[in-house]
Amino acid sequence: MARATDLYTEAVLFGSAASVSTGGCDVHKPGIAPDTEAALRVQLEERSYDIHVGSGVLARAGELIQAATGSPIGFVITHPIVNRHHGEALGKGLGDLARQTILVPSGERQKSLRRAAALWDELLSRGADRRSVVVAFGGGVIGDLAGFVAATYMRGIPYVQVPTTLLAQVDSSVGGKVAINHPKGKNLVGAFYQPCLVLADATVLTTLRARDYRAGLAEVVKHAVIADAGMFDWLAQNARAAARREPSAVSYMVRRSCEIKADVVRRDEREAGLRAMLNFGHTVAHALESLGGYRAFRHGEAVSVGMAAAVRIAQRMRLLPAEEGQRVEGLLATLGLPTRISSVPVVDIVKAMRSDKKAVAGSPRFVLPRAIGAVDIEVAVDPAVLRRVLVELGAAL
Ligand code: NAD
Repeated sequence: MARATDLYTEAVLFGSAASVSTGGCDVHKPGIAPDTEAALRVQLEERSYDIHVGSGVLARAGELIQAATGSPIGFVITHPIVNRHHGEALGKGLGDLARQTILVPSGERQKSLRRAAALWDELLSRGADRRSVVVAFGGGVIGDLAGFVAATYMRGIPYVQVPTTLLAQVDSSVGGKVAINHPKGKNLVGAFYQPCLVLADATVLTTLRARDYRAGLAEVVKHAVIADAGMFDWLAQNARAAARREPSAVSYMVRRSCEIKADVVRRDEREAGLRAMLNFGHTVAHALESLGGYRAFRHGEAVSVGMAAAVRIAQRMRLLPAEEGQRVEGLLATLGLPTRISSVPVVDIVKAMRSDKKAVAGSPRFVLPRAIGAVDIEVAVDPAVLRRVLVELGAAL
């Protein structure tokens, strides 16, 4: 077990450099200053990049992408629904940047080797070369899939994240984890491959279905529980504003989440230890997603149930005071997120957890809170405690 505390005493560093050079992003343009008002910087030496948060960011996409990548052409990978709602706005924002659009159906099942291979074929047939930039325009599925394709195409070409779901804006677009799923488990094939730029425009979130928006709130709660008790209090007091997508609430949640994630990634880019704290709720979540064939649960919904399980385990292990655990479950419920497992057999959940890539010798490891705002990572849990909690939450015996 390792402690992941006192992480947030240092201020998150904001962007100031005008030049960026990363694995795939290879440009130095000293004349172009980044948007220092809005830009948040992920500090990773030569792989550093800016995150632009705010309404209107999409309108500047072309200028920002050119400055970050110097690419002459963008290949926009997106879903039909996202293209229908926001393709025109992105097109306008891309301005002079030459681009082509490649459409991928929606759904977690698209994070597959088959779909990745189809995208490699598509890029080849359309003449994409090493100077082309992939623009991942969608939620976490598009970000993970298009990022994986960019990481592997011609040994890696630059890519930009333009997240269009709340989950992607607060979490998956930052940090460079790209992956596809394997029949044996989620995200089992992938890479650490940082984007050159992240453009999170709040206006695109207005068209998200209620269920998809809510799922994103789970990752916001996750950031608060692992790192920021003040953010948790804010969420508890502003749950209605958050649920109603009030612009100021959305802006706070996206910016603060990105700050927390950027700070963790800066300290531990490749998950040697600390970064594992971001997996709070994910041990049970990945098992539930896989057992549901990636259709029964949205990722955020599964994380919500996983966080409820983790706080109960922490309570039973006397790590976390009961009232703190109840506050976490209470907030999830207030936000309309699930905290129960309906009738999935315990044995199946435990078996699926053994093949999680974070398991050690087949024994799952947990991130457990000691208080709201502080977690321990890599905690081994007594199988009897785990089973009891799963049954308590509604899993079938
Ligand atoms: P998603 O990408 O499947 O999007 C959810 C739905 O919303 C889809 O049907 C999509 O077509 C639709 N959609 C997207 N943007 C829209 C918009 N603006 N308006 C209307 N509809 C829109 O789901 P998600 O929750 O964004 O992402 C989940 C994925 O993210 C999972 O695969 C998960 O593993 C991954 N993830 C990755 C990381 C990481 O660090 N790489 C972190 C967390 C989650």
